[in-house]
Amino acid sequence: MKGTIKTDLLRELPSVDELLRSPELQALAEREGHAAMAEATRSVLATLRREIQEDRLDASGMKLALNGISEAIERELRRQATYSLRPVINATGVILHTNLGRAPLGASTIERIREVATQYSNLEFDIEAGERGKRDVHVQRLFTSLFGAAAERATVVVNNNAAAVLLTLNSLAEGGEVVVSRGELVEIGGSFRIPDVMAKSGAVLREVGTTNRTRIADYERAITERTRMLLRVHRSNFEIVGFTEQPSLADLVALGRKRNIPVVEDLGSGALFDLRAVGIHGEPSVAESLAAGVDVITYSGDKILGGPQAGLITGRAELVARIRSNPLFRALRVNKLTYAALEATLMAYLRKDYHAIPALRLMNTPADDLKCRAEAIAVRLRKEARTECDVITVESLVGGGAAPAATLPSFAVAIGAKGRSADELAAALRQSPQAVIARVEDGRVLLDLRTVFPEQDGAVMEAVMAAIGKQ
Ligand SMILES: *Cc1c(COP(=O)(O)O)cnc(C)c1O
Repeated sequence: MKGTIKTDLLRELPSVDELLRSPELQALAEREGHAAMAEATRSVLATLRREIQEDRLDASGMKLALNGISEAIERELRRQATYSLRPVINATGVILHTNLGRAPLGASTIERIREVATQYSNLEFDIEAGERGKRDVHVQRLFTSLFGAAAERATVVVNNNAAAVLLTLNSLAEGGEVVVSRGELVEIGGSFRIPDVMAKSGAVLREVGTTNRTRIADYERAITERTRMLLRVHRSNFEIVGFTEQPSLADLVALGRKRNIPVVEDLGSGALFDLRAVGIHGEPSVAESLAAGVDVITYSGDKILGGPQAGLITGRAELVARIRSNPLFRALRVNKLTYAALEATLMAYLRKDYHAIPALRLMNTPADDLKCRAEAIAVRLRKEARTECDVITVESLVGGGAAPAATLPSFAVAIGAKGRSADELAAALRQSPQAVIARVEDGRVLLDLRTVFPEQDGAVMEAVMAAIGKQ
């Protein structure tokens, strides 16, 4: 019985050609182009066919669907013409939000990308000598300026920090052992696990100490003739508190020197900027680790550094040269857009123009400015949309694996959901044309202004009004 109904319904479906010949759709095709029309029509028919086959469409549903089929095709056309990757407004208060693209790039960086990418460039061309050059040279000079005149130091750039760790382990420790503390065998969001990366690099993990306490003697005891590296990993997304012990970098470096084994640190975020200036303490900077004598450091370009996605490997020139000559480097290298963006970002650091780096600008915004903006938004929402809202103090996070326990004081507009759940209101905000991503706390939707750019305040208000209006 059911089978016959299904067959009948399937038979009732018009063909693509029939639909395309209908006058309504012909007018649409003139405007949108025949190829796109045919594609959208096929997609709508395929959906209907699937619904019939899965018993989700009966005879009356089918009638409705056929009556509205031109509208459905028009909607599908519009959907196909919109971008999948698009900007959103980050009202979560997490400055380096991995799911929201981490560091936003500044206008001068984008201008640099535009200039370099729309023309030919000297990416791998030595202009003076008129012969083939290396892409590494473009940022090398800047890193040298940033980290002092140490000629014996070098930096190479790969696709991301995960690649930097993989390449460093593979280049320096393949077939040998790497000593790591049990308290540092971390998993970073997006399933980056140190033990898994190490296995893929061909190095053997030698765990020492316990989750909460590792002493320098634990490292020393684990060293054998097969040991190729002492590895320190930044605990990017958690802190161990209470009865804890971890040797200082200086102790680790001293042990490495004594036994002639390189000390490598996966810094994760890798600050080039002194975070104490924004009240964040205890987050190591790249310069501090280098000063402590670490041989090789790996860090991300798009975390607290505030640049494009990249993995940076900075360290002793002879070790970096070994990493550079690994055939895997060719597979993990970055393109000219990344070099352009990284060079522009590093130039801003050299000029000490932190304002040009959006992530640092957001971190540096005084809480009072955020309070003024939050109040202005709340006043207008109450007046123009009779929205129940308050301005409250909140704590923003740096994110991106930097200073996991540190917070920045901030202000948020807290909106009551009026007869709907806060989750539903948050969903409506996400689905507004200028998708606003908020957080939900204690039954209210919080819009943390720390991560909203001032020029987006109007768009945030409009999104809230539209979302509340739909209640
Ligand atoms: C974030 C992080 C990584 C991964 O860096 P990506 O740039 O996301 O590849 C690796 N190690 C640590 C300690 C991190 O914090």
